[in-house]
Amino acid sequence: MALINEHFLKLQNSYLFSDIAKKVNSFKVTHPKDKIIRMGIGDVTQPLAPAVIEAMHKAVDDLATTDNFHGYGPEQGYSFLIDAIIKNDYASRGVFLEPGEVFVSDGAKSDCGNIGDILRHDNSIGVLDPVYPVYIDSNVMSGRTGVLEDGKWSDVVYIPCTEANNFTPELPARRVDILYLCYPNNPTGTTLTKDELKKWVNYALANDVLIMYDSAYEAYIQDPNIPHSIYEIKGAKKVAIEFRSFSKTAGFTGVRCGYTVVPKELNGFTLGGERVQLNKLWNRRQTTKFNGTSYITQRGAEAVYSPEGKEQVKATINYYMTNAHIMKEAIQGCGLKVWGGENAPYLWIKAPKDLSSWKFFDKLLYEVNIVGTPGVGFGPSGEGYLRLTAFGDRDDTLEAMARLKKWL
Ligand SMILES: *Cc1c(COP(=O)(O)O)cnc(C)c1O
Repeated sequence: MALINEHFLKLQNSYLFSDIAKKVNSFKVTHPKDKIIRMGIGDVTQPLAPAVIEAMHKAVDDLATTDNFHGYGPEQGYSFLIDAIIKNDYASRGVFLEPGEVFVSDGAKSDCGNIGDILRHDNSIGVLDPVYPVYIDSNVMSGRTGVLEDGKWSDVVYIPCTEANNFTPELPARRVDILYLCYPNNPTGTTLTKDELKKWVNYALANDVLIMYDSAYEAYIQDPNIPHSIYEIKGAKKVAIEFRSFSKTAGFTGVRCGYTVVPKELNGFTLGGERVQLNKLWNRRQTTKFNGTSYITQRGAEAVYSPEGKEQVKATINYYMTNAHIMKEAIQGCGLKVWGGENAPYLWIKAPKDLSSWKFFDKLLYEVNIVGTPGVGFGPSGEGYLRLTAFGDRDDTLEAMARLKKWL
């Protein structure tokens, strides 16, 4: 008899995107002539950079010859990609990593979800609220979150990010062993300055907290004072794992490639208090459960760092960030309060007149035919907010904003 992991039974079904789809479908039935503009989904829309396409074509041709055929690669990733990552994403910012500290993967979601494999089940967890749901749900699966009471897990410390603290989270009052930070933030689009991030690193150093730093949106940072990597902060290699992805950076959401940095200076502890390098454990976990990202994909990712690739990827990010700029101006022009959209492709809007997230969602859908994502879907502190994304088409973005301007 196979006994199941009963922690899975505690998981709430996430109805967020299916509830949205249901509402949109019933709107369509009653309003067949109205054109809906979707600004809810966190997926890119623009094609891959030509340099990436060319590199992937060439990699396919490599596989067609006996001389250049590639079978299993290193589980940790090919050195051509790891070297490009270290040189371009870190050394250029004064951060020096060894090749053995970078693990290429099929994306940041898998790594954020799998990292718990190397950590005990009874660590306490801290998350920003609202938050990317993977951090909490993956910990529910391994039994780290306690029981659900009024929409909150009893063993999770929620760190609110709201208008009241200007989206600058405060250090938690309760002890946490593992803390998830995501900057630039999904869903709020807000960022931390170097000084604010330093506060978190120092807190982690002083309290032996392990930080999981998700910087999937670092490529969207425009302000030179905002850190791209947590390792730009002194001491961070002793306390943090960093997750990166080519998904939002270079349109790889369908191709699948990301990487995780686990510094060799970073230790965890045995129950007996002995220090153990997390790098060794993650390497063991990956070599056992993962057989590497495809050669074709890694050649495509490498091309993101070529001179042409860099320019092309930047142009696409500028396209999305111009959308974000257009959106922010228009939304503010309507007298609504809005955050994000300056160093991230997300805009976080306060619902007018204290409407709930879902009421505001309905109003936008029925009155201006725009689909957003209700903020409450990302956590209790998201109630009263709504997320719009800047990943859309320019003409649709302009039309949506013209509708908003006429509306309010
Ligand atoms: C999109 C996203 C990722 C990237 O996930 P992939 O699996 O690499 O596509 C990671 N973290 C956050 C917060 C995201 O929004």
